Amino acid sequence: MDIKDYFFLIFMDQEYILIPHSHLDALEKLAIDTLPNESCAILLGKGSSTKPVVEYILPMNNSSHSSIEFTIDADDLYHAYNKARLMNLDIISIFHSHPSQPIPSDMDKIFMLINPVVWIIYSTSSRSFKAFIFDNLDQIQEISILPIKD
Ligand SMILES: [Zn+2]
Repeated sequence: MDIKDYFFLIFMDQEYILIPHSHLDALEKLAIDTLPNESCAILLGKGSSTKPVVEYILPMNNSSHSSIEFTIDADDLYHAYNKARLMNLDIISIFHSHPSQPIPSDMDKIFMLINPVVWIIYSTSSRSFKAFIFDNLDQIQEISILPIKD
């Protein structure tokens, strides 16, 4: 991160998540390779950090094999938690892709309540990322995705 990014963060009052460019590229590739279905991944980083940085991506199998929803099997989720523990990292974000706009669906909102981490959605139609989190008032709030150098 260079000094310009640092000042940007200080003056920004909304929440954000930092992702190295290479990880954004990998997520975009995962989304496109998984078409026509939705792709999904679990993103690891230091959960206690005040600057959440995605450090590792665990691509997950969408067991729904669907273009309108995704499901991560309990076994896969277990392995993801295990991997995070072995790496001394936390699950800081859940990623999935939409063929439509990168806005949480009604189903996504239910799972966001259960899994209150940052949710990142990539749209394969608009080729853009958006990130969301439940705020203190249990409202869904969009937060910034800040690409950083690898
Ligand atoms: Zn969705």
